[in-house]
Amino acid sequence: MTARAEGRCEGCGRPGPTDYSHRIGAGVGGPWHPANALALDRACHQWLHANPTKARLQRGWRLQSTDNYLTFPAWVYGLGWVLIDEAGEYVPVRDIPEEITA
Ligand SMILES: [Zn+2]
Repeated sequence: MTARAEGRCEGCGRPGPTDYSHRIGAGVGGPWHPANALALDRACHQWLHANPTKARLQRGWRLQSTDNYLTFPAWVYGLGWVLIDEAGEYVPVRDIPEEITA
């Protein structure tokens, strides 16, 4: 996941230190899995926690415990909406779920 991000925030593209940010939070059972994680810098990580609904529906960065992180796309800087597969690799997304509003 950190290698995938190549030292940049996957949210805004800025180079520098990033946090391992769970998509489904660890506190509600989200696993330490590369498809359930994004490398976000402090600003994006703070935005995610302050705006959980937008972070889910406009970015796919923060999911609910009932979401499937393998099929719920994430918005990644420079790529737009992508899926993240079992290996933690970006995969093109064919169908954006209707509930996504961005
Ligand atoms: Zn960022």
